[in-house]
Amino acid sequence: MIDRQEATDVLVVGGGTAGFGAAVAAGRQGQNVILLEATSKVGGVMAFCPGMPWGGGYPVDQIIGGLVEELTERLAAMTPPAAEKRPCTLENFGPEIIYDHDIATLTMFEMLEEAGVKVRLNASAIEPIVDGSSIKAVTCFDRNGAFQVTPKIVIDCSGDGDISAKAGVPYVLGDESGNMMAVTISFHMIGVNWDVAFAGPDPYFTQYAAKGIAQRRLHPDLAKLYLMKAFHKGSVFCNSVHVRGVDGTDPLAVGKATQEGRRRCLQLAQFLQAEVPGFADAHMSMLSPTVGVRETRKLQGVTRVTGEDLARGTKFADGIVSCDNPIDDVMRASASMTHDAVIEKGSYHTLPFRALIPEDVTNLMFAGRIISADATAFASVRGMPQCMAMGQATGTAAALALNGRRSVQAVDIGQLVAELTKQGVNRLGASI
Ligand SMILES: Cc1cc2nc3c(=O)[nH]c(=O)nc-3n(C[C@H](O)[C@H](O)[C@H](O)COP(=O)(O)OP(=O)(O)OC[C@H]3O[C@@H](n4cnc5c(N)ncnc54)[C@H](O)[C@@H]3O)c2cc1C
Repeated sequence: MIDRQEATDVLVVGGGTAGFGAAVAAGRQGQNVILLEATSKVGGVMAFCPGMPWGGGYPVDQIIGGLVEELTERLAAMTPPAAEKRPCTLENFGPEIIYDHDIATLTMFEMLEEAGVKVRLNASAIEPIVDGSSIKAVTCFDRNGAFQVTPKIVIDCSGDGDISAKAGVPYVLGDESGNMMAVTISFHMIGVNWDVAFAGPDPYFTQYAAKGIAQRRLHPDLAKLYLMKAFHKGSVFCNSVHVRGVDGTDPLAVGKATQEGRRRCLQLAQFLQAEVPGFADAHMSMLSPTVGVRETRKLQGVTRVTGEDLARGTKFADGIVSCDNPIDDVMRASASMTHDAVIEKGSYHTLPFRALIPEDVTNLMFAGRIISADATAFASVRGMPQCMAMGQATGTAAALALNGRRSVQAVDIGQLVAELTKQGVNRLGASI
């Protein structure tokens, strides 16, 4: 029985980087906003893989701006600083932002509160109730049972797009063949001697990995070890343990992969201590609470961004964020990974707002890793700064739609781009 009802202007489903951006932006525009997050923390993948750098925040070495810049500056201005820009050691990636995980997620929560957003943790959106071409209500669930939210606009930032899919938005899972990128469990090694550990020329520690695999002490998929200096001195972020062939929309598969991944993390941590110079006195910490899921549904929007759009450096008239990240494909169809450049060095492209709105549902938008994109484009644009900016665009568009009493498809894109530019998002629209 549903005995709790709440009306709101904007319902944001999911409190990852996209949901954070959407909720803060809509709240700052004076909208009543409810943000539902199924887990106990904001951040989404950022919370599931603590300490993961924000990649792709500086296309052609200029920060994308907006909330990403504001959050970064807020953290960097703390004493001592809780974030910094640094070069990425991986090929074709521009600079990235590293940060103190706990201070960053705490600050994100504070920014949500300051924007007046009602954050509901441990609460899930379950079912949209569709009336004609719009979502009339969303049935939700928390420990006290079911409740219903009646929103004017829904922004799906759930990473998996369950609510959009149930509302009838077409989607594809993974690539054209249904292959989804591997899921990953991360951890930190604390107490590493950086000078010794990173003295060698090989960023992937392949020689050590090969030894571990040959001796069956490491899983065969660990041929490249992604070990990066983390924010705090002596800590190393290990983003190496990938589990393939997992459907991130299947909770049983996610649970199984989490336990399997944890086993492999412990093996890797013990191997690093025993075999890799600089790690002898280090210990494992910050093991992911669950696997980080890279890819599930890609929803069908009014337009679908393609790899060709990116390679051409397309600047859409309704461009809402600029990007130049490489094609970061992690073990989709095989054990291989790519970081191939998507665009020639020194160029960038934008993402169109129309890839964040469905064709038919008039009060629904989506942002983050469920963007309407082909497999190549998706592999390039899925970074956290881009997801946050997509969220910011949809939150801002929600206010424009509600103030103008329009459907999301009828939002004036000139007005949207002008408003985002006013909010400090750099290099938008087709003007450059
Ligand atoms: C292992 C891994 C490594 C990565 N490495 C990097 C990196 O180094 N740098 C980088 O910038 N990007 C990286 N990425 C990509 C980036 O982290 C993600 O693409 C991005 O965080 C996705 O953000 P999102 O908000 O769209 O979705 P998510 O982060 O998945 O957030 C979705 C949120 O919605 C919640 N949710 C889901 N369904 C519901 C529901 N029905 N009701 C309520 N809440 C719900 C979830 O609990 C979650 O908190 C990586 C991704 C992974 C998985």
